[in-house]
Amino acid sequence: MDQIKKLSENERKKIVSMLMSSHDTEANTSLSFTEERFSNGFFCPHCGCVENIVKFGKSPNGEQRFKCKNCGKTFIAKTNTIFCGSHKSFDLWMKFLECMVDQFSIRKTAVICDINTHTAFVWRHKVLDAIASYNESKKLKGVIEADETFFRVSYKGSRNLPEGRKAKKRGTPAEQNGLSKEQVCVECAIDRNGNKVSEIVSLGPADTKTLHEVLDDKIIRGAIFCTDGFRTYGLYAEDNFGYIKHVVVNEEKRKNGIYHINHVNAYHSFIKLFVGKFRGVSTKYLQNYLEWCNTAYGVSGESVKKLNIVKPAVGSSFAKKWEEIGDRPSLPVAA
Ligand SMILES: [Zn+2]
Repeated sequence: MDQIKKLSENERKKIVSMLMSSHDTEANTSLSFTEERFSNGFFCPHCGCVENIVKFGKSPNGEQRFKCKNCGKTFIAKTNTIFCGSHKSFDLWMKFLECMVDQFSIRKTAVICDINTHTAFVWRHKVLDAIASYNESKKLKGVIEADETFFRVSYKGSRNLPEGRKAKKRGTPAEQNGLSKEQVCVECAIDRNGNKVSEIVSLGPADTKTLHEVLDDKIIRGAIFCTDGFRTYGLYAEDNFGYIKHVVVNEEKRKNGIYHINHVNAYHSFIKLFVGKFRGVSTKYLQNYLEWCNTAYGVSGESVKKLNIVKPAVGSSFAKKWEEIGDRPSLPVAA
């Protein structure tokens, strides 16, 4: 590293291009999808069994089909992955994932990948569903900062509006100010190892019940739970007395040694910017974008492919069709 500092700009550029070309060689020897999926050997995506898997003819599209003699089910390499039900090539999907890493719009992605915008939309949510299931297993430990942020409810693109609701034009101000029922509450918690949770919890401010639902199975015993003075956090911490330690951060001082909520607040700013970039994300799909934020925050350049979306957990299943994505409730919390 010290030697690199001594080089001229031209010499540095040469090094960069050398590194880039060795990267290209790696890309040329990249694994096929089937090799990637079964890189630890064959397994049954339904039951996880690694023995007694036999070849079982071909699928209608000519893909090798397998049968698990343990559970009796058949499968192909794509079964229970985001590629399930898609006839497009693995390479095209990888190109699509790169567009997601670059956070391109649906329209731009569709042009680059030469697919229609409808397909790009469905693929995006398949990938985000996969990221969501990957995020599910994450736990928070040690010093945890928690705070909530709000998004205005948007029914954009929803055919069935809740009773009494009229579709709004973008930019129309919320009917009531502050923490009204026009705002959806997103609870965020982040630990000092960068693990994070952000989840839509309620319309208007969160209560202890919703905090239990979101945080209980995420927090590891012994955590130090840093929040502002919002009463709900105090009640939640009381419920978890002996399991977590609550540190209330003074609103004026904003800092209590290493205990503060600056990181979670920085994360809020990131979420707002990130979601804002995609112009009018509807509440229906907001959770998926929050999952995307969780993955994109602080891990710039990490390829989506590296996340286990290519090799999902045994028993995972993903939406195959537009209907399974579009038919989600327009408001994912109780009104
Ligand atoms: Zn099986």
